[in-house]
Amino acid sequence: MTRILIAEDEERISAFVAKGLEAAGYQTLIVDDGAEALDTALSGEVDLVLLDVGLPSLDGFEVLRSLRGQGSSLPVIMLTARTSTRDTVDGLDAGANDYVAKPFKFDELLARVRSRLREPVPLGTITVAHGEVSLDVLARRATVGGREVDLSAREFALAEEFIRHAGQVLSREQLLSRVWGLDFDPTSNVVDVYVRYLRSKVGPAHIVTVRGAGYRWE
Ligand code: CA
Repeated sequence: MTRILIAEDEERISAFVAKGLEAAGYQTLIVDDGAEALDTALSGEVDLVLLDVGLPSLDGFEVLRSLRGQGSSLPVIMLTARTSTRDTVDGLDAGANDYVAKPFKFDELLARVRSRLREPVPLGTITVAHGEVSLDVLARRATVGGREVDLSAREFALAEEFIRHAGQVLSREQLLSRVWGLDFDPTSNVVDVYVRYLRSKVGPAHIVTVRGAGYRWE
């Protein structure tokens, strides 16, 4: 049976979410503290984590960084009261698979939980390359002309998406959905921000802006 860890210090919210998830057929486990959330997530006893940003002892970002730093690929959905692009970018960059901004409708949360649990885990060693840029997908190493460049997890995923579709125009909507797992939000500039980061690391010539359409890897 699928077990979901709810790391949330507001009892009203954790009780509401637990009740809904149990009605949908999941087992739940509630913790109200960041350090406890990290221990439980690392215990291997849960299949997904709903992680509040504002938690005592360790905040949600610290829990997530530590979890990913210890090699865990457990799906994590951040529950954030903050809806600014900056916090979203921070959360996703720290390795969150998705986020839900409070206040949320339970159905929205459930849809995201279901979608994350269906995600296939990529297996095997895969290198994707185009021109001088090469990505070792398993080791998460990126090289440009043989020189290693340091990409964040999200920059790496974006580069991978581009290289796998080299020469094709990818819209912001496609990138947001495939790289961030988010529904298109016309007010978000997260894709543009990350394209800028990536250009500064792999060289500006690789990613061409196609006006009104999106971006293309050359
Ligand atoms: Ca909180």
